[in-house]
Amino acid sequence: MPEAAPDYRVWIGIARALRRRCPVCGLRGISRHVASVENTCPKCDLDLERQVGSFIGGIGLNTIVAFGGLLLVLTIGFIATEGRASVWGILVPALAVALFVPLIFYARSRLVWVALELRWWPLEPGEVNLPGETRSS
Ligand SMILES: [Zn+2]
Repeated sequence: MPEAAPDYRVWIGIARALRRRCPVCGLRGISRHVASVENTCPKCDLDLERQVGSFIGGIGLNTIVAFGGLLLVLTIGFIATEGRASVWGILVPALAVALFVPLIFYARSRLVWVALELRWWPLEPGEVNLPGETRSS
């Protein structure tokens, strides 16, 4: 009998990724700080570069979130200042978002992208090593 693929739910994986945890096993140590992600999960051996270009997908997701935040800040700034150019009302908050959102969201964006990839390309049997997973052979 073939080995069963581990059970994976995409929303649980995304929720774990947003908390900088492994999308499959939930290990916290996969990201030491907001701008760092391990290449493989130390607990379940999930490869975070499962598909060619996974890194670019995470960076693209990070860029989308950063530009969305920037658009939101610019829109709120122009509404709050009634359309006038303002250094403290628009420029400084926009610069803060442009600098800090990509940095703070970096690890999360890479892990969320892996969580999404696991939905599009499910785990193969034996791809990860989960201690509690029952395996049939
Ligand atoms: Zn893991």
